[in-house]
Amino acid sequence: MTYRRCGRSGILLPAISLGLWHNFGDVNPLSRSKEILHHAFDQGIVSFDLANNYGPSYGSAEETFGIVMQKSFRPYRDEMFIATKAGYDMWPGPYGNWGSRKYLISSLDQSLKRMNLDYVDIFYSHRYDPETPLEETLTALVDIVRQGKALYIGISRWPKKAMNFAKQFLSQRDAPCLLFQDKLNIFDRAPETSGMLTDLENSGIGFIAFSPLAQGLLTNRYLHGIPADSRAAAGKFLSAANLTRGMMEKITNLNHIAASRDQSLAQMALAWLLRKKEVTSVIVGCSSIAQLDDSISSLANLEFTSEQLAEIDNLAGSQ
Ligand code: NDP
Repeated sequence: MTYRRCGRSGILLPAISLGLWHNFGDVNPLSRSKEILHHAFDQGIVSFDLANNYGPSYGSAEETFGIVMQKSFRPYRDEMFIATKAGYDMWPGPYGNWGSRKYLISSLDQSLKRMNLDYVDIFYSHRYDPETPLEETLTALVDIVRQGKALYIGISRWPKKAMNFAKQFLSQRDAPCLLFQDKLNIFDRAPETSGMLTDLENSGIGFIAFSPLAQGLLTNRYLHGIPADSRAAAGKFLSAANLTRGMMEKITNLNHIAASRDQSLAQMALAWLLRKKEVTSVIVGCSSIAQLDDSISSLANLEFTSEQLAEIDNLAGSQ
């Protein structure tokens, strides 16, 4: 594993982090989740990305992590960088969603119990709340750090204007934003095209990319149809409707470029991200150790020729 400095901070993160959004809930065999978590840590993936509602069921990815923490990870706690978040629907009624102080603080308390932790390394506001005053959300994050329940603050998916406000607000209170988390991959480039990546770098804030493999589209998973055990087969966040003829052509052609680099498509997609100096880490998901190992091997070649980059841009933008 290689480790990269997170903005202007004392924190180094592994180039590859592991996300527990899918495949670690109580619908998945605990033995497999445990195996993948152990394997990740043994490969130097010391950064784990969770959120209150990852599962399914909601909360159960944190519970899975908590069981592994209790049974085997505990002696290595200080070697790990553990993230959780709140911002999306978690429990019924008006206090289990969005960005109120009430929700964020009680959600983190619940997350810590589920994960068997005294503190997380980073706590994120999972999304921008257009109704709650930003000052309320941000003060709750600052207080969480002051209480020692999180060491650092993260922001995920906030629009640029709100993020600029957050940066100032948090720095003025000596609790700077450590990391901004958003979707970035060969197909989805919003943080790059909006100038967010450059802004973050100039402000000394790290960037961590989620869905770097476009939920599996940028891998060999769907090159020959939809496997029964895949995310697209489950049909909730990715479905057969995403695998249009145009998408299949793009994936197939991108796979040819990857092959010419002696890489799998997943490896090339991750290398494409990690070649950017503004990207601190990419959070991969996986449903097997083999997938994770494939993804880790991307680190062997992060160099691209200008021709390869131009071809990738052409394909990504094509209809
Ligand atoms: P990816 O884009 O990495 O997609 C992961 C999926 O791709 C896997 O579940 C698997 O699909 C397939 N896959 C992974 N590696 C390979 C491989 N080498 N070869 C073939 N197929 C592969 O990421 P996710 O969409 O899962 O997101 C990653 C993490 O980002 C989440 O777990 C979460 O922590 C974070 N996230 C944060 C969000 C936010 O709002 N802040 C939103 C979304 C994600 P299959 O399961 O079908 O085998």
